[in-house]
Amino acid sequence: MDAIEKELDKLTNGGANLSKSIKDIDKCLEILMNARTTIEQDPTTTVPTLQALESQLKSGFQLANDNLKGLHGGITKYGKALDKKFKHSTNENAFGALANRQPLINRAIQMHLLREGNFEIADMFAKEAGLVEDVPSVLDIEFRELFSIQESLRRKELKPAIEWAEKRRDQLESRATNLEFELHRLQYMILLFQGTPDDVPNALAYAKAQFGPFQKKYLAEISQLAGCVVWREKLAISPYAALIQDESSWQSTIDLFTTEFCALLRLSAESPLYVATTAGAIALPTFNKMATIMKAKKTEWTSQNELPVEVPLPDKFKYHSIFVCPVSKEQTTDSNPPMMIPCGHVLAKDTVQKLARGTGSRYKCPYCPADSLPKDAREIYL
Ligand SMILES: [Zn+2]
Repeated sequence: MDAIEKELDKLTNGGANLSKSIKDIDKCLEILMNARTTIEQDPTTTVPTLQALESQLKSGFQLANDNLKGLHGGITKYGKALDKKFKHSTNENAFGALANRQPLINRAIQMHLLREGNFEIADMFAKEAGLVEDVPSVLDIEFRELFSIQESLRRKELKPAIEWAEKRRDQLESRATNLEFELHRLQYMILLFQGTPDDVPNALAYAKAQFGPFQKKYLAEISQLAGCVVWREKLAISPYAALIQDESSWQSTIDLFTTEFCALLRLSAESPLYVATTAGAIALPTFNKMATIMKAKKTEWTSQNELPVEVPLPDKFKYHSIFVCPVSKEQTTDSNPPMMIPCGHVLAKDTVQKLARGTGSRYKCPYCPADSLPKDAREIYL
């Protein structure tokens, strides 16, 4: 039985105690009334009779009091049980919600392990968490490919990455990425600086064979690459010094490859689990402070889809533009989207409606002399 129900049950029994106490008090009153009548009728009532009355009364009160003590204790315990239950159920709800999301969390963990190249651990995790085909096996294969290409890029072997990109040229083209050209450019630079007597002819042969499809878009870059042949011996002090590959530029190529690879799988380049836990860790002190303040001020967090405080996150964790209405100072939402009015100024939908006094009548833009009708405002997507 639930603690609160137990206490409530006891309290109901306490209710029986209460009626007993009432009866006891009634009895006491009856004794007093009788005593009064007795004294009135016979003013010479002897002390022993009065003493007997007194002891009757005393025991009556004692009984009533004892019964009330039980009732009082019951009420206190019930209150405490309620407090405990209330606190407990908040957590329970939170954990309940967490339990509902467990499959999603498991999936996120499995995906994270795959992204990190921990394939065996991912398999083990899937088995132990009872995940059956939660992450499609095709993704597993894709991530294995990603990881092996990343590894070869770290060894400065470009061939697997170039082959991957060549096969997906159209898709990459539609994403307007320079990944494939970037890989060929790197390969060209490697050939040019291998330190053999054939470096220049090898690099030029490579350029001739591979740069053709990129002429239109990357002519300036190709010219630079051709020009740096002349400066090969003194590249560091040449106008082409920026073309020198160091470790950080290799890393940015690996990052670019990862981003494009994940994008074609319609996934973010960063593991969502990593981003969520890191952002959560950054936000935790703010939340903690907020909870303390809310407790001290006895206030509740009422906003639905919005945090009541700003959480400063690094720029790389900012994915969506936000729009704050310059009039209402409120951040726009799905139900209150930003609207562009004919003069070009942008306000929140609610503000437009307020300006038009909800009647659809003409209103004046708060920022310029133009006036317009609410129906002419157009929703914009940031
Ligand atoms: Zn305007």
